[in-house]
Amino acid sequence: MVVAFTRIGESSLHPEGLDPFMVSELDRAHKILSTSIGVDSHVDTLQRLLIEGLDFSNELPNGHVDYPRLKLGHVSILFCALWTPTYFPQQAALARTFELLNAIQGLCSQTDRFRIVVNISEAREIIRKGSIALVLSLEGCQPLGGDLGLLRQLRKAGISSVTLTHIAANELADSSTAAPIHGGLSALGRAAILEMNQLGLLIDVSHCSDAAVEQVLGASERPVIASHSCCRKLCETPRNLPDSLIKAIVARGGVVCIAAHAAFLHPADRTELNLPIGPHSFQHKTREDLDKYLAKEHLTALAAHITPNAGLSDVVAHIDHAIRVAGSRGVGLGSDFDGGITPPRGFTDVSKRPYLAAELLQRGYDSADVARVFGENVVSVLESVQEGSVTNR
Ligand SMILES: [Zn+2]
Repeated sequence: MVVAFTRIGESSLHPEGLDPFMVSELDRAHKILSTSIGVDSHVDTLQRLLIEGLDFSNELPNGHVDYPRLKLGHVSILFCALWTPTYFPQQAALARTFELLNAIQGLCSQTDRFRIVVNISEAREIIRKGSIALVLSLEGCQPLGGDLGLLRQLRKAGISSVTLTHIAANELADSSTAAPIHGGLSALGRAAILEMNQLGLLIDVSHCSDAAVEQVLGASERPVIASHSCCRKLCETPRNLPDSLIKAIVARGGVVCIAAHAAFLHPADRTELNLPIGPHSFQHKTREDLDKYLAKEHLTALAAHITPNAGLSDVVAHIDHAIRVAGSRGVGLGSDFDGGITPPRGFTDVSKRPYLAAELLQRGYDSADVARVFGENVVSVLESVQEGSVTNR
C-alpha cells in the first residue's frame, strides 16, 4: 500500500495528515533510528557556513540542514562536502578547500554539538558523548591539480572521504556530465586510488563517468561508495547509476547512497539538470570575482522554489529498486541537501528521515533493513576502508 503524503512546507517539522496506521509506523521508525547510527553521506551545508556565515549548530529559517533538524532526523554521522566549483583554477580551489575546512573547524571550536572525526572509532566516541560526528569529504579533485602529495596533507588536515570528480573531468577521472578526456581513469587517477587506499580515505564515485566507476572498482583494494546518486533505471540521467554498476559497487563491499534531488528521482524533473551551472571557461580572473560569482549562484539556488513532481514515494522507489538489484546491505542515504537541489515533496529537509523510514517499514522492510540503509551500511564501509590504514592525524 502506498501512503499518500500531504504536501509538507519547507519549514514545517510536523507534517500533518498521516493516516493512523502510518502514525504507528512512524513511532517504530523513531525507535529504530534512535537506536542505530544514522548517516547522511553527502550534504553541502559548508557552503552556507562559508558564503552566508550561518551557524548551523542552531536552527536556521531555511535550507535543509541544521543541528535541531539533524537530531529530529536521527543523523549521527554527517558527511560534509568541501566543494569548489570546477571554474575555480587549481590554486584558488585549493585555497577555498582550506577556507571551508577552517570555517568548520571554527564552528566546532564554538560548540560541542559537532566534532570533526577522522575515523569510525572517533565517530563512535563522539556519538556516545552526544555530539554529531562530521566526516569531511573533498568533492572533486581539481584542488589537487594532479599533486597526489596533497592527499596526505588533506588527510592529516581532517579529510576522510574523496569524491573523485564533479561536473567536469579533472586530472584523475572523467565526469558523468562532461565529455571524457581519459576514457575513465587516468594513469594518475589509478595511482591516486592506491594512495587513497593507503591513507584510509573513502573513495566516492558519484559524479564519475560509467567507465571511471568501472575502472575505480578494478583499481581500488577497498570498497567504495556512491555518496549521492540514484537509479538510472527509474530516472535516466548520467548522474544516476545503471543496475550493472550498482551491482558491481555492492559486490565489492560498497554502498550506493540514494540522493534527495528531484532531478535524479523523477523523469519529469530532469529538465532542472539543464539549468545553467556556471560557465567552464570563466571570464573572471581574480579570486574576489570568483567568490562573488559563486555567492550569487549559491543565493540564487537557495531562493529558487520549484514544485517538483518527485515526492517521498520516489525516494522509496529508488531505495527499493537498489535493494532489489543489490540487497539491503548495499544501499544508503546521501541527500545532497543544501547543494542547490530541489528536494522531493514530503522529504524536504533532513528532519523528515523518519517519514522515509516509516514508509519503508510499511512496505514490509524490517528494522534491520531500515537501520542498514539509514546508516549502518556506510559505517561498515568506513570500517573496512580505514582498517589497517593511516587514519590518525
Ligand atoms: Zn555533488
